[in-house]
Amino acid sequence: MKRVAIIGAGLSGLTLGHLLQDVAQITLFDKGRSPGGRLAYRRAHPYVFDHGVQFFRAKTEAFQKFLDPWVRSGVIQPWCSRFVEINQGILDHGHDWSELLPHYVGVPHMNAFPRALAKGLDIRLGTRIIEVQSMSSQWALYDDSGAECGLYDWIVYAMPVAQVIDLMNHSSRLFKQLEGRQMKPCDALMLGFEAPLVLPFDAALIKGAPISWISMNQTKPERSSACSMVVHSTNQWALEHAKFSNSEVIKILKQAASEVVGSIWEQPVYEDLQRWRYANIAPQKGQQALLDLEERVAICGDWLIQGRVEAAFQSASYLADQLIQQWA
Ligand SMILES: Cc1cc2nc3c(=O)[nH]c(=O)nc-3n(C[C@H](O)[C@H](O)[C@H](O)COP(=O)(O)OP(=O)(O)OC[C@H]3O[C@@H](n4cnc5c(N)ncnc54)[C@H](O)[C@@H]3O)c2cc1C
Repeated sequence: MKRVAIIGAGLSGLTLGHLLQDVAQITLFDKGRSPGGRLAYRRAHPYVFDHGVQFFRAKTEAFQKFLDPWVRSGVIQPWCSRFVEINQGILDHGHDWSELLPHYVGVPHMNAFPRALAKGLDIRLGTRIIEVQSMSSQWALYDDSGAECGLYDWIVYAMPVAQVIDLMNHSSRLFKQLEGRQMKPCDALMLGFEAPLVLPFDAALIKGAPISWISMNQTKPERSSACSMVVHSTNQWALEHAKFSNSEVIKILKQAASEVVGSIWEQPVYEDLQRWRYANIAPQKGQQALLDLEERVAICGDWLIQGRVEAAFQSASYLADQLIQQWA
């Protein structure tokens, strides 16, 4: 069996590992303490926040089929949220999300889905790969302690494009195809309130403000009942304010959220901020994954398609199909 190293155990790396596990010997590496990447959550008792991905859709049959076992087991459930759009402070329109057109979330938190997907895979967590070296017909990986992490026949980068650029050998033929892909940041503010805020929505898409999204995490299935609000900045605002300190960002986003919520706003008793450097990318044209058969290198990730969980799946499953065909 071919030995394959996948660097990055977000949804694209995990999907690829899952789809290739019967045809290759797979080892995944991730610098995080838990698999899942941007499918993340933060616990600060009694509050729980999905501060990255808010929900995901399965618009294609292939993704729905892939999700089905976890939907059946309850690790993924629809979030039947009271959804509204708020434009320039005015509540535009709203509707309740239904199970017929599911907006999925991990249960009991967003990271539960990648954790379930990771079961049975060989994943080296807390391992930041900082160097990839070609050794005749194999690849050697090194982590940030200088330790060698094994020799592999194939190497797959499954991470945001800027991180691929940092790590990949610049003389690699695929390197040229990474130019001009810019992922945008997002600042995620987490607020915990002592008493419930009685709002006319569970999730709000905001327009005409520095923030693009507010969600009440406790309204997702099987969450703690403590009033936990997630506020996302727009990608553009985060880009323009990248040099602002955390406390300045918290102050501005909190003010913007309080303006949306209006007179029922209470001061939060808990606040924290996550600054996602590589959150989102506009829809892309071109191949869904990149591979070089001669160099035995491949790349997958949402950014080859668009900044969505389903895109991460599509990129990885396209790559899995290509590799399985080649190895047959
Ligand atoms: C704030 C925010 C909100 C979002 N909301 C939604 C939403 O509501 N719906 C939706 O569909 N999508 C949403 N997205 C996008 C979604 O998160 C991504 O499309 C998807 O999770 C991408 O998965 P991925 O595996 O391609 O990348 P990632 O999840 O980024 O995974 C990459 C992994 O690589 C690891 N890594 C990177 N460099 C190294 C290294 N050198 N060594 C080892 N490991 C490394 C990282 O730790 C990470 O785990 C959101 C993203 C953010 C940040």
